[in-house]
Amino acid sequence: MEAHGRTPNRRTLLRSGALIATASLGAAVTTAGAHAADATSTGTRGRRAAADYPPTHWIPASSSNYRVSDRPTSYPIELVVIHVTQETFQDAMKIFQDPAKQVSAHYMVASADGYIGQFVREKDVAWHAGNTDYNNRSIGIEHEGWVDQPEWFTDALYESSAALTAAVCDRFAIPKDRAHIIAHSEVPGSDHTDPGPLWDWDRYIDLVNGV
Ligand SMILES: [Zn+2]
Repeated sequence: MEAHGRTPNRRTLLRSGALIATASLGAAVTTAGAHAADATSTGTRGRRAAADYPPTHWIPASSSNYRVSDRPTSYPIELVVIHVTQETFQDAMKIFQDPAKQVSAHYMVASADGYIGQFVREKDVAWHAGNTDYNNRSIGIEHEGWVDQPEWFTDALYESSAALTAAVCDRFAIPKDRAHIIAHSEVPGSDHTDPGPLWDWDRYIDLVNGV
């Protein structure tokens, strides 16, 4: 079980109040394992292909909450859009799995330990930016937390997310700069403020670049 790998983080999770999310994620990952076994060459307990770094876990969003596509053939993938959930990981996961919600992101990073769930495949168009053109051309990454509560922006969250963004940029030849790694609040027409002024962009971009 993936839960075994998370045991060392139990104290951290307790401190952040995220233990409930862990319990639910354990169940989700168990289910996800069956999907991953079909979709990857490794099929190891929900973990995706060994080539992926950082490791992510497949927790599919409702098929009503994204659009199947064939990127980068259908659209170039040129941007990474950074979000903050304004929800716990668990609650955001439920939203992605609720067909009535009509929202999703490709990835979500947990605050306490940097756990990464993948909800939509990169080839498909997740509905996260509130702008069809930007959705078509981007990968959306959610971060567990609230824009006005900096304690959610942990070292683990920054480091895990930056490794993910670096891998996405490498896959699609996206420059690792602020012109291509953008805030949800910078998407034209967006009325969202995330990830907000407390998000440390200088630190994040440095981490993405391995500085
Ligand atoms: Zn957002």
